[in-house]
Amino acid sequence: MSDIETFRAETRAWLEANCPASMRQPIVADEMVWGGSQVEFKSADQQLWFERMRERGWFAPGWPVEYGGGGLNRREERVLEEEMRRLGCRQPQYNLGLWMLAPVLLAHGTHEQKLEHLMPMAKGKRRWCQGFSEPNAGSDLASLKTRAEIDGDDFVVNGAKIWTSYGDRGDWMYALVRTDPAAKKQQGISFLLIDMKSPGITVKPIELISGKSSFCEVFFDNVRVPRRQLLGQLNDGWTLGKQLLQHERAAMSKFAEGGTPSHDLLAVGAPYLRDEQGAVCEPELRARMARVLMDAQAFALTHRRVVEEAMAGMDASGPSSIMKLVLTEQEVAKYELLAQLMGQRGLSWEGREFSGDEHDVCRQWLLTKTYTISGGSSEVQLNIIAKRVLGLPG
Ligand SMILES: Cc1cc2nc3c(=O)[nH]c(=O)nc-3n(C[C@H](O)[C@H](O)[C@H](O)COP(=O)(O)OP(=O)(O)OC[C@H]3O[C@@H](n4cnc5c(N)ncnc54)[C@H](O)[C@@H]3O)c2cc1C
Repeated sequence: MSDIETFRAETRAWLEANCPASMRQPIVADEMVWGGSQVEFKSADQQLWFERMRERGWFAPGWPVEYGGGGLNRREERVLEEEMRRLGCRQPQYNLGLWMLAPVLLAHGTHEQKLEHLMPMAKGKRRWCQGFSEPNAGSDLASLKTRAEIDGDDFVVNGAKIWTSYGDRGDWMYALVRTDPAAKKQQGISFLLIDMKSPGITVKPIELISGKSSFCEVFFDNVRVPRRQLLGQLNDGWTLGKQLLQHERAAMSKFAEGGTPSHDLLAVGAPYLRDEQGAVCEPELRARMARVLMDAQAFALTHRRVVEEAMAGMDASGPSSIMKLVLTEQEVAKYELLAQLMGQRGLSWEGREFSGDEHDVCRQWLLTKTYTISGGSSEVQLNIIAKRVLGLPG
Protein backbone atom coordinates (compact mmCIF):
# COMPACT_ATOMS: atom_id res chain seq x y z
CA MET A 1 0.00 0.00 0.00
CA SER A 2 1.25 3.54 -0.76
CA ASP A 3 1.71 5.99 2.10
CA ILE A 4 -1.43 7.86 1.15
CA GLU A 5 -3.49 4.67 0.99
CA THR A 6 -2.22 3.68 4.42
CA PHE A 7 -3.12 7.14 5.68
CA ARG A 8 -6.60 6.80 4.19
CA ALA A 9 -7.17 3.41 5.81
CA GLU A 10 -5.97 4.62 9.21
CA THR A 11 -8.00 7.82 9.00
CA ARG A 12 -11.15 5.94 8.03
CA ALA A 13 -10.69 3.50 10.92
CA TRP A 14 -10.06 6.31 13.38
CA LEU A 15 -13.10 8.30 12.25
CA GLU A 16 -15.33 5.24 12.38
CA ALA A 17 -14.16 4.50 15.92
CA ASN A 18 -14.25 8.07 17.20
CA CYS A 19 -17.02 10.01 15.50
CA PRO A 20 -20.25 9.42 17.46
CA ALA A 21 -23.27 8.39 15.36
CA SER A 22 -25.16 11.60 16.17
CA MET A 23 -22.22 13.62 14.83
CA ARG A 24 -22.69 11.93 11.45
CA GLN A 25 -26.09 13.55 10.90
CA PRO A 26 -26.39 16.61 8.60
CA ILE A 27 -25.58 19.74 10.54
CA VAL A 28 -28.44 22.02 11.62
CA ALA A 29 -27.94 25.67 12.57
CA ASP A 30 -28.61 25.25 16.29
CA GLU A 31 -26.02 22.51 16.60
CA MET A 32 -22.99 24.21 15.11
CA VAL A 33 -20.28 24.30 17.77
CA TRP A 34 -18.51 27.64 17.70
CA GLY A 35 -15.18 27.49 19.49
CA GLY A 36 -13.94 30.14 21.89
CA SER A 37 -14.17 31.08 25.53
CA GLN A 38 -17.99 30.91 25.38
CA VAL A 39 -18.14 27.50 23.68
CA GLU A 40 -21.43 25.67 24.34
CA PHE A 41 -22.32 22.03 23.77
CA LYS A 42 -25.86 20.83 23.24
CA SER A 43 -24.97 17.18 23.84
CA ALA A 44 -22.29 14.95 25.33
CA ASP A 45 -21.56 13.63 21.81
CA GLN A 46 -20.82 17.13 20.55
CA GLN A 47 -18.32 17.66 23.33
CA LEU A 48 -16.72 14.26 22.82
CA TRP A 49 -16.30 14.84 19.07
CA PHE A 50 -14.90 18.33 19.73
CA GLU A 51 -12.39 17.02 22.26
CA ARG A 52 -11.29 14.05 20.20
CA MET A 53 -10.66 16.12 17.08
CA ARG A 54 -8.90 18.78 19.15
CA GLU A 55 -6.54 16.23 20.71
CA ARG A 56 -5.66 14.95 17.24
CA GLY A 57 -4.89 18.46 16.00
CA TRP A 58 -7.63 18.11 13.41
CA PHE A 59 -9.35 21.42 14.02
CA ALA A 60 -6.52 22.61 11.81
CA PRO A 61 -5.19 19.48 10.14
CA GLY A 62 -2.85 21.28 7.74
CA TRP A 63 -1.12 23.61 10.21
CA PRO A 64 2.32 22.80 11.58
CA VAL A 65 2.25 20.78 14.80
CA GLU A 66 4.13 23.52 16.68
CA TYR A 67 1.11 25.81 16.23
CA GLY A 68 -1.35 23.17 17.38
CA GLY A 69 -2.21 21.75 13.96
CA GLY A 70 -2.18 18.19 12.67
CA GLY A 71 0.91 18.60 10.46
CA LEU A 72 -0.78 16.93 7.47
CA ASN A 73 0.36 17.64 3.94
CA ARG A 74 -2.21 18.85 1.39
CA ARG A 75 -2.94 15.39 0.02
CA GLU A 76 -3.48 13.99 3.51
CA GLU A 77 -5.68 16.96 4.37
CA ARG A 78 -7.76 16.27 1.28
CA VAL A 79 -8.02 12.59 2.20
CA LEU A 80 -9.22 13.54 5.68
CA GLU A 81 -11.88 15.82 4.13
CA GLU A 82 -12.97 13.05 1.78
CA GLU A 83 -13.21 10.49 4.55
CA MET A 84 -15.15 12.89 6.78
CA ARG A 85 -17.54 13.58 3.91
CA ARG A 86 -17.90 9.88 3.16
CA LEU A 87 -18.93 9.17 6.75
CA GLY A 88 -20.98 12.38 6.99
CA CYS A 89 -18.92 13.66 9.93
CA ARG A 90 -19.83 17.14 11.11
CA GLN A 91 -17.26 19.89 11.44
CA PRO A 92 -16.22 19.68 15.10
CA GLN A 93 -15.56 23.42 15.45
CA TYR A 94 -16.74 26.50 13.56
CA ASN A 95 -14.54 29.58 13.84
CA LEU A 96 -13.97 32.44 11.38
CA GLY A 97 -10.40 32.55 12.60
CA LEU A 98 -9.66 29.04 11.42
CA TRP A 99 -10.94 29.51 7.87
CA MET A 100 -10.10 33.13 7.18
CA LEU A 101 -7.56 34.67 9.50
CA ALA A 102 -5.28 31.67 9.95
CA PRO A 103 -4.14 31.34 6.30
CA VAL A 104 -3.22 35.06 6.32
CA LEU A 105 -1.51 34.74 9.69
CA LEU A 106 0.46 31.73 8.50
CA ALA A 107 1.61 33.66 5.43
CA HIS A 108 2.35 37.05 7.03
CA GLY A 109 2.56 36.64 10.81
CA THR A 110 5.75 36.61 12.85
CA HIS A 111 6.62 33.42 14.71
CA GLU A 112 5.49 35.09 17.97
CA GLN A 113 2.15 36.10 16.45
CA LYS A 114 1.58 32.57 15.18
CA LEU A 115 2.34 31.11 18.59
CA GLU A 116 0.12 33.64 20.33
CA HIS A 117 -2.91 33.30 18.04
CA LEU A 118 -2.87 29.97 16.22
CA MET A 119 -2.52 27.70 19.24
CA PRO A 120 -5.70 28.96 21.03
CA MET A 121 -7.68 28.52 17.79
CA ALA A 122 -6.31 25.03 17.31
CA LYS A 123 -7.43 24.26 20.85
CA GLY A 124 -10.90 25.72 20.29
CA LYS A 125 -10.35 28.41 22.92
CA ARG A 126 -10.35 31.62 20.90
CA ARG A 127 -13.13 32.75 18.63
CA TRP A 128 -12.58 35.52 16.10
CA CYS A 129 -14.89 38.09 14.58
CA GLN A 130 -14.29 40.22 11.52
CA GLY A 131 -14.11 44.00 11.74
CA PHE A 132 -14.02 45.13 8.12
CA SER A 133 -17.35 46.78 7.19
CA GLU A 134 -18.33 50.24 8.37
CA PRO A 135 -21.53 52.26 7.88
CA ASN A 136 -20.15 53.83 4.67
CA ALA A 137 -17.63 51.17 3.73
CA GLY A 138 -19.13 47.85 2.64
CA SER A 139 -18.62 47.13 -1.05
CA ASP A 140 -16.36 50.15 -1.11
CA LEU A 141 -14.37 48.78 1.82
CA ALA A 142 -11.30 50.91 1.16
CA SER A 143 -13.31 53.97 2.27
CA LEU A 144 -13.19 52.77 5.88
CA LYS A 145 -12.61 55.50 8.47
CA THR A 146 -11.87 53.78 11.79
CA ARG A 147 -8.53 55.30 12.74
CA ALA A 148 -5.53 53.85 14.51
CA GLU A 149 -2.87 56.32 15.62
CA ILE A 150 0.49 55.32 16.98
CA ASP A 151 1.11 56.41 20.56
CA GLY A 152 4.24 54.92 22.15
CA ASP A 153 4.03 51.13 22.01
CA ASP A 154 0.34 51.14 21.13
CA PHE A 155 -2.12 52.04 18.42
CA VAL A 156 -5.07 54.06 19.69
CA VAL A 157 -8.21 53.03 17.81
CA ASN A 158 -11.34 55.19 17.37
CA GLY A 159 -14.35 54.56 15.15
CA ALA A 160 -17.09 52.02 14.51
CA LYS A 161 -17.58 48.74 12.67
CA ILE A 162 -20.91 47.34 11.56
CA TRP A 163 -22.38 43.96 10.55
CA THR A 164 -19.79 42.25 12.73
CA SER A 165 -21.05 38.67 12.86
CA TYR A 166 -21.04 37.42 16.45
CA GLY A 167 -19.15 40.48 17.66
CA ASP A 168 -20.71 39.78 21.06
CA ARG A 169 -19.21 36.29 21.14
CA GLY A 170 -15.81 36.92 19.61
CA ASP A 171 -12.79 36.82 21.88
CA TRP A 172 -10.66 38.70 19.36
CA MET A 173 -11.30 40.71 16.22
CA TYR A 174 -9.19 41.03 13.09
CA ALA A 175 -9.79 44.49 11.73
CA LEU A 176 -8.85 46.88 8.96
CA VAL A 177 -8.08 50.35 10.26
CA ARG A 178 -6.86 53.60 8.74
CA THR A 179 -3.31 54.41 9.78
CA ASP A 180 -2.45 57.03 7.15
CA PRO A 181 -5.38 59.33 6.34
CA ALA A 182 -3.25 61.33 3.89
CA ALA A 183 -2.40 58.37 1.64
CA LYS A 184 -4.45 57.09 -1.30
CA LYS A 185 -7.33 55.20 0.31
CA GLN A 186 -6.08 51.63 -0.27
CA GLN A 187 -2.56 52.58 0.85
CA GLY A 188 -3.34 54.02 4.27
CA ILE A 189 -4.88 50.88 5.79
CA SER A 190 -3.39 48.43 8.30
CA PHE A 191 -4.47 45.03 9.61
CA LEU A 192 -4.80 44.83 13.40
CA LEU A 193 -5.57 42.00 15.83
CA ILE A 194 -7.68 43.34 18.69
CA ASP A 195 -8.57 41.74 22.00
CA MET A 196 -12.32 42.27 22.42
CA LYS A 197 -11.86 42.64 26.18
CA SER A 198 -9.82 45.83 25.68
CA PRO A 199 -11.18 48.85 27.57
CA GLY A 200 -13.11 51.24 25.29
CA ILE A 201 -14.86 48.59 23.13
CA THR A 202 -18.67 48.58 23.15
CA VAL A 203 -20.64 45.89 21.31
CA LYS A 204 -24.30 46.39 20.37
CA PRO A 205 -26.30 43.52 18.77
CA ILE A 206 -28.54 44.24 15.73
CA GLU A 207 -31.90 42.46 15.46
CA LEU A 208 -32.53 40.49 12.26
CA ILE A 209 -35.65 39.41 10.38
CA SER A 210 -34.69 35.73 10.74
CA GLY A 211 -35.14 36.09 14.50
CA LYS A 212 -31.56 35.11 15.12
CA SER A 213 -29.35 38.04 15.89
CA SER A 214 -25.83 37.37 14.77
CA PHE A 215 -24.84 40.91 13.83
CA CYS A 216 -23.34 43.61 15.97
CA GLU A 217 -22.10 47.14 15.82
CA VAL A 218 -18.74 47.57 17.50
CA PHE A 219 -17.59 50.96 18.77
CA PHE A 220 -13.99 51.88 19.58
CA ASP A 221 -13.30 54.71 22.00
CA ASN A 222 -9.56 55.27 22.50
CA VAL A 223 -8.89 51.53 22.48
CA ARG A 224 -5.21 50.77 23.02
CA VAL A 225 -3.85 47.94 20.88
CA PRO A 226 -0.19 46.93 21.34
CA ARG A 227 1.90 47.53 18.21
CA ARG A 228 2.94 43.89 18.19
CA GLN A 229 -0.66 43.12 17.13
CA LEU A 230 -0.06 44.68 13.71
CA LEU A 231 -0.19 41.88 11.12
CA GLY A 232 2.10 42.47 8.14
CA GLN A 233 3.54 45.91 7.41
CA LEU A 234 2.15 49.27 8.50
CA ASN A 235 -0.16 50.65 5.77
CA ASP A 236 -0.11 47.35 3.86
CA GLY A 237 -3.34 46.01 5.38
CA TRP A 238 -5.29 46.24 2.13
CA THR A 239 -3.18 43.48 0.56
CA LEU A 240 -3.82 41.22 3.55
CA GLY A 241 -7.51 42.13 3.69
CA LYS A 242 -7.96 41.15 0.04
CA GLN A 243 -6.26 37.83 0.68
CA LEU A 244 -8.49 37.23 3.68
CA LEU A 245 -11.61 37.90 1.61
CA GLN A 246 -10.48 35.26 -0.87
CA HIS A 247 -10.32 32.75 1.98
CA GLU A 248 -13.77 33.90 3.15
CA ARG A 249 -15.22 33.31 -0.32
CA ALA A 250 -13.50 29.95 -0.60
CA ALA A 251 -14.93 28.99 2.82
CA MET A 252 -18.42 30.05 1.75
CA SER A 253 -18.19 27.92 -1.39
CA LYS A 254 -17.55 24.94 0.89
CA PHE A 255 -21.24 25.10 1.78
CA ALA A 256 -21.56 22.65 -1.08
CA GLU A 257 -19.75 19.99 0.91
CA GLY A 258 -22.21 19.91 3.77
CA GLY A 259 -20.20 22.19 6.07
CA THR A 260 -23.12 24.49 6.81
CA PRO A 261 -26.82 23.79 7.35
CA SER A 262 -28.82 23.29 4.17
CA HIS A 263 -32.00 21.33 3.57
CA ASP A 264 -32.16 18.32 1.28
CA LEU A 265 -34.29 19.62 -1.58
CA LEU A 266 -35.44 16.19 -2.66
CA ALA A 267 -36.37 14.99 0.83
CA VAL A 268 -38.27 18.14 1.78
CA GLY A 269 -39.62 19.26 -1.59
CA ALA A 270 -40.51 16.10 -3.52
CA PRO A 271 -43.62 15.18 -1.44
CA TYR A 272 -45.15 18.56 -2.37
CA LEU A 273 -44.99 17.70 -6.07
CA ARG A 274 -47.59 14.95 -5.72
CA ASP A 275 -51.32 14.98 -5.09
CA GLU A 276 -53.08 12.77 -2.53
CA GLN A 277 -53.11 9.84 -4.99
CA GLY A 278 -49.34 10.15 -5.46
CA ALA A 279 -49.50 11.49 -9.02
CA VAL A 280 -47.19 14.34 -10.03
CA CYS A 281 -49.38 17.43 -10.02
CA GLU A 282 -46.74 20.11 -10.38
CA PRO A 283 -44.79 19.38 -13.61
CA GLU A 284 -43.34 22.90 -13.87
CA LEU A 285 -42.07 22.87 -10.32
CA ARG A 286 -40.71 19.38 -10.85
CA ALA A 287 -38.73 20.61 -13.87
CA ARG A 288 -37.43 23.51 -11.79
CA MET A 289 -36.42 21.08 -9.06
CA ALA A 290 -34.53 18.94 -11.57
CA ARG A 291 -32.68 22.05 -12.78
CA VAL A 292 -31.72 23.10 -9.26
CA LEU A 293 -30.49 19.58 -8.45
CA MET A 294 -28.48 19.36 -11.68
CA ASP A 295 -26.93 22.77 -11.05
CA ALA A 296 -25.96 21.63 -7.55
CA GLN A 297 -24.33 18.51 -8.93
CA ALA A 298 -22.45 20.47 -11.59
CA PHE A 299 -21.29 22.91 -8.94
CA ALA A 300 -20.04 20.13 -6.66
CA LEU A 301 -17.94 18.66 -9.50
CA THR A 302 -16.56 22.03 -10.55
CA HIS A 303 -15.79 22.88 -6.95
CA ARG A 304 -13.86 19.64 -6.61
CA ARG A 305 -11.83 20.51 -9.70
CA VAL A 306 -11.04 24.01 -8.39
CA VAL A 307 -9.90 22.57 -5.05
CA GLU A 308 -7.59 20.15 -6.89
CA GLU A 309 -6.20 23.05 -8.95
CA ALA A 310 -5.60 25.11 -5.81
CA MET A 311 -3.81 22.12 -4.26
CA ALA A 312 -1.63 21.96 -7.35
CA GLY A 313 -0.60 25.57 -6.66
CA MET A 314 -2.72 27.30 -9.32
CA ASP A 315 -4.03 30.82 -8.61
CA ALA A 316 -7.47 30.48 -7.02
CA SER A 317 -8.38 34.17 -6.61
CA GLY A 318 -10.69 34.32 -9.63
CA PRO A 319 -12.30 30.93 -8.99
CA SER A 320 -13.01 31.79 -5.34
CA SER A 321 -15.24 34.67 -6.51
CA ILE A 322 -16.91 32.47 -9.13
CA MET A 323 -17.53 29.70 -6.60
CA LYS A 324 -18.90 32.10 -3.99
CA LEU A 325 -21.20 33.77 -6.53
CA VAL A 326 -22.54 30.56 -8.04
CA LEU A 327 -23.06 28.64 -4.84
CA THR A 328 -24.80 31.42 -2.95
CA GLU A 329 -27.08 32.17 -5.90
CA GLN A 330 -27.87 28.44 -6.11
CA GLU A 331 -28.79 28.33 -2.42
CA VAL A 332 -31.12 31.29 -2.95
CA ALA A 333 -32.78 29.54 -5.92
CA LYS A 334 -33.15 26.32 -3.94
CA TYR A 335 -34.86 28.00 -0.99
CA GLU A 336 -37.08 30.12 -3.25
CA LEU A 337 -38.26 26.87 -4.80
CA LEU A 338 -38.75 25.20 -1.42
CA ALA A 339 -40.71 28.17 -0.10
CA GLN A 340 -42.92 28.07 -3.19
CA LEU A 341 -43.44 24.31 -2.96
CA MET A 342 -44.32 24.40 0.71
CA GLY A 343 -46.70 27.34 0.35
CA GLN A 344 -48.05 28.66 3.64
CA ARG A 345 -46.41 25.83 5.49
CA GLY A 346 -43.03 27.14 4.31
CA LEU A 347 -43.71 30.41 6.10
CA SER A 348 -44.43 28.80 9.45
CA TRP A 349 -42.18 30.00 12.15
CA GLU A 350 -42.98 28.71 15.58
CA GLY A 351 -45.71 26.84 17.39
CA ARG A 352 -46.01 24.16 14.73
CA GLU A 353 -44.61 20.67 14.67
CA PHE A 354 -42.48 19.85 11.66
CA SER A 355 -40.86 16.63 10.62
CA GLY A 356 -37.05 16.63 11.03
CA ASP A 357 -36.53 17.37 7.32
CA GLU A 358 -38.74 20.45 7.32
CA HIS A 359 -37.47 22.02 10.50
CA ASP A 360 -36.44 25.67 10.15
CA VAL A 361 -36.98 26.00 6.36
CA CYS A 362 -38.43 29.49 6.79
CA ARG A 363 -35.50 30.83 8.80
CA GLN A 364 -33.06 29.25 6.39
CA TRP A 365 -34.92 30.77 3.41
CA LEU A 366 -34.52 34.19 5.01
CA LEU A 367 -30.90 33.50 5.84
CA THR A 368 -30.02 32.69 2.22
CA LYS A 369 -30.88 36.30 1.40
CA THR A 370 -27.77 37.30 3.32
CA TYR A 371 -25.48 34.87 1.48
CA THR A 372 -25.40 37.02 -1.64
CA ILE A 373 -24.32 40.04 0.44
CA SER A 374 -21.84 38.75 3.04
CA GLY A 375 -18.27 38.23 1.94
CA GLY A 376 -18.89 40.78 -0.85
CA SER A 377 -22.19 41.04 -2.73
CA SER A 378 -22.96 39.15 -5.94
CA GLU A 379 -22.59 42.37 -7.94
CA VAL A 380 -19.14 42.91 -6.45
CA GLN A 381 -18.17 39.32 -7.31
CA LEU A 382 -19.31 39.94 -10.89
CA ASN A 383 -17.09 43.02 -11.02
CA ILE A 384 -14.11 40.99 -9.73
CA ILE A 385 -14.73 38.21 -12.24
CA ALA A 386 -15.06 40.73 -15.08
CA LYS A 387 -11.80 42.38 -14.14
CA ARG A 388 -9.57 39.59 -12.87
CA VAL A 389 -10.85 36.51 -14.68
CA LEU A 390 -12.13 37.91 -17.96
CA GLY A 391 -9.73 40.86 -18.12
CA LEU A 392 -12.49 43.28 -19.15
CA PRO A 393 -11.84 47.04 -18.86
CA GLY A 394 -13.04 48.76 -15.65
C1 LIG B 1 -24.77 37.65 6.87
C2 LIG B 1 -23.75 38.73 6.81
C3 LIG B 1 -22.64 38.64 7.61
C4 LIG B 1 -21.68 39.66 7.58
N1 LIG B 1 -20.64 39.58 8.45
C5 LIG B 1 -19.71 40.56 8.45
C6 LIG B 1 -18.63 40.50 9.37
O1 LIG B 1 -18.54 39.59 10.20
N2 LIG B 1 -17.73 41.48 9.35
C7 LIG B 1 -17.78 42.51 8.44
O2 LIG B 1 -16.88 43.33 8.43
N3 LIG B 1 -18.82 42.62 7.57
C8 LIG B 1 -19.77 41.66 7.55
N4 LIG B 1 -20.84 41.75 6.68
C9 LIG B 1 -20.98 42.94 5.85
C10 LIG B 1 -20.78 42.68 4.37
O3 LIG B 1 -19.43 42.48 4.05
C11 LIG B 1 -21.37 43.89 3.62
O4 LIG B 1 -22.75 43.91 3.89
C12 LIG B 1 -21.17 43.80 2.12
O5 LIG B 1 -19.80 43.94 1.79
C13 LIG B 1 -21.98 44.85 1.36
O6 LIG B 1 -21.74 46.11 1.89
P1 LIG B 1 -22.96 47.07 2.33
O7 LIG B 1 -23.88 46.29 3.20
O8 LIG B 1 -22.38 48.31 2.88
O9 LIG B 1 -23.74 47.37 1.00
P2 LIG B 1 -23.34 48.46 -0.18
O10 LIG B 1 -21.89 48.37 -0.36
O11 LIG B 1 -23.91 49.76 0.31
O12 LIG B 1 -24.10 47.89 -1.35
C14 LIG B 1 -25.51 48.13 -1.58
C15 LIG B 1 -25.88 47.52 -2.92
O13 LIG B 1 -25.15 48.16 -3.98
C16 LIG B 1 -24.46 47.20 -4.77
N5 LIG B 1 -23.15 47.73 -5.16
C17 LIG B 1 -22.27 48.39 -4.37
N6 LIG B 1 -21.16 48.70 -5.07
C18 LIG B 1 -21.35 48.23 -6.32
C19 LIG B 1 -20.56 48.24 -7.51
N7 LIG B 1 -19.34 48.81 -7.53
N8 LIG B 1 -21.06 47.65 -8.61
C20 LIG B 1 -22.29 47.07 -8.60
N9 LIG B 1 -23.10 47.04 -7.51
C21 LIG B 1 -22.62 47.60 -6.39
C22 LIG B 1 -24.26 45.99 -3.85
O14 LIG B 1 -24.12 44.81 -4.59
C23 LIG B 1 -25.56 46.03 -3.04
O15 LIG B 1 -26.58 45.39 -3.76
C24 LIG B 1 -21.82 40.77 6.69
C25 LIG B 1 -22.95 40.84 5.87
C26 LIG B 1 -23.91 39.85 5.93
C27 LIG B 1 -25.12 39.98 5.06
